[in-house]
Amino acid sequence: MWTQLAQDVINGKELSDHEALAILTVNDDELLPLLHGAFQIRKHYYGKKVKLNMILNAKSGYCPEDCGYCSQSSKSTAPIEKYPFITKEEILEGAKRAFENKIGTFCIVASGRGPTRKDVKVVSEAVSEIKEKYGLKVCACLGLLKEEQAEQLKQAGVDRYNHNVNTSQRHHDYITTTHTYDDRINTIEIVKKHGLSPCSGAIIGMKETKDDVVHIARALRALDADSIPINFLNAIDGTKLEGTKELNPRYSLKVLALFRYINPTKEIRVAGGREVNLGTLQPLALYPANSIFVGDYLTTAGQEENIDYRMLEDLGFEIELAEKQEELSRA
Ligand code: SF4
Repeated sequence: MWTQLAQDVINGKELSDHEALAILTVNDDELLPLLHGAFQIRKHYYGKKVKLNMILNAKSGYCPEDCGYCSQSSKSTAPIEKYPFITKEEILEGAKRAFENKIGTFCIVASGRGPTRKDVKVVSEAVSEIKEKYGLKVCACLGLLKEEQAEQLKQAGVDRYNHNVNTSQRHHDYITTTHTYDDRINTIEIVKKHGLSPCSGAIIGMKETKDDVVHIARALRALDADSIPINFLNAIDGTKLEGTKELNPRYSLKVLALFRYINPTKEIRVAGGREVNLGTLQPLALYPANSIFVGDYLTTAGQEENIDYRMLEDLGFEIELAEKQEELSRA
């Protein structure tokens, strides 16, 4: 059944609500056939290649927004390290580490509602040098964006901009009250308008329903997001969602399969919370997904990098470098 559905998806079929919910509620005994179907789709578009991303937290904490999952919100009492926007030189040091670790996409992420003029200037200056020295793809994630800021980032050579929808439109106000779901969509539309590749994803496990999860996957399809990071909530003490633990590894895999069946051609990344929520089943996530983050997340630690590289080797999958990065690595 799943293999046939996968073939239909490759041929252009869109899942019905019934089929989408069937993926999320499938009996655990059917998990491997479901993942096999998702892998057929992934393999059709991406083979066995895996894209690696690395996050640099360029500004930590001090955020006036109230996102319920986030330890960088001023509403959170989590004891995190807080610092203002880092320098161009510090961004370049991060890019050097990314290059040495075969990271194809270097993600410059900053806390806050949106970037200041100075933040955009620092990122823009850093990106020109990153491109020249390391050839990495660069993704910026700086919050709500204005038209002129999107244009400036594009001109500087930023490839991609991340702004997650995070959850469904229905559930959004439970998670955040200081900005709206439409504010988020608006930023993604601005990103697209200025020729940046849109990256937008979700955080699963924030008390949303299964219908919400289907809605998120469909919303990202409608937005035509090129890259879809799927985070699994790692609830941090001191945040509004402290103590929330709704996920298990098998359900997390079903969620990844759903996103692959609904967004067959897109880069789907297993993002934050991978280690905590998928546990020993992490390798299976790369059957529906074709990308992972390596290294630490914004305020939580990832697993040791050599374990990730070993996992890819054991799976027989191949790391995909950015084109220019490949040339520079050979030089
Ligand atoms: S997710 Fe971003 S906007 Fe929301 S509180 Fe955290 S840093 Fe602020």
